[in-house]
Formats: sequence, structure tokens, C-alpha cells
Amino acid sequence: MTDFAPAHPGWCSPNRCDVTDPTLPTRGGAHRSEPITLDLAPVLVGRDRLQVATASLYRVDHGFDTDTWLILNAAGREQLSMPILKSTAVLVQLARLIGQGESA
Ligand SMILES: [Zn+2]
Repeated sequence: MTDFAPAHPGWCSPNRCDVTDPTLPTRGGAHRSEPITLDLAPVLVGRDRLQVATASLYRVDHGFDTDTWLILNAAGREQLSMPILKSTAVLVQLARLIGQGESA
């Protein structure tokens, strides 16, 4: 047994995680959250309408701190991924843009 504490983050789903043993110093695999379904149906129209969009978290396990990523998927394909530390800044930018559109 090592001094490493179990490293599964609280959001990690045992159903989707493939980290073999988080107590070992040499690791592999990734922690993954259960995806949440984004309800885009009310806002998207047309032939190219996305049928399913999901968001989930992902973190490679190297035995040391690594970034947690936000993964956005649409129609079963990864569309966008970004470190969560930077995703807040992106969301703030989008909120500002949406605010400009709402106030015009
Ligand atoms: Zn895990």
C-alpha cells in the first residue's frame, strides 16, 4: 500500500472510469463523469438539428494533478473540449455576447 489517497474525483462514474488502481504511483486510464444531456431541442431548428448533445468531465490519471476537461458532444461525436479552468472564462464571454443580443 502506498501513501497515495484514492484519487477518484467525486464526479467520477465507476461505470465510465478506466483507472485501474488509483492507489498505485504508476497509473493509466481516465476518470469520466456520467454525461448530462443538454436540452437543445427548444432552441435548435432545421435539418441539421442536433439530436443528442451531452456534456461530461474527463481527467487523465497520471498519478499527479492534471487538468479536468469539459467535453461537449453532439450526435455522438466530440465537438469541443476545454480545461474546466478555462471554460468559465469562455462561458463569461458567451454570457456577455448573449447579453448584448438581448439588450439590442
Ligand atoms: Zn475514476
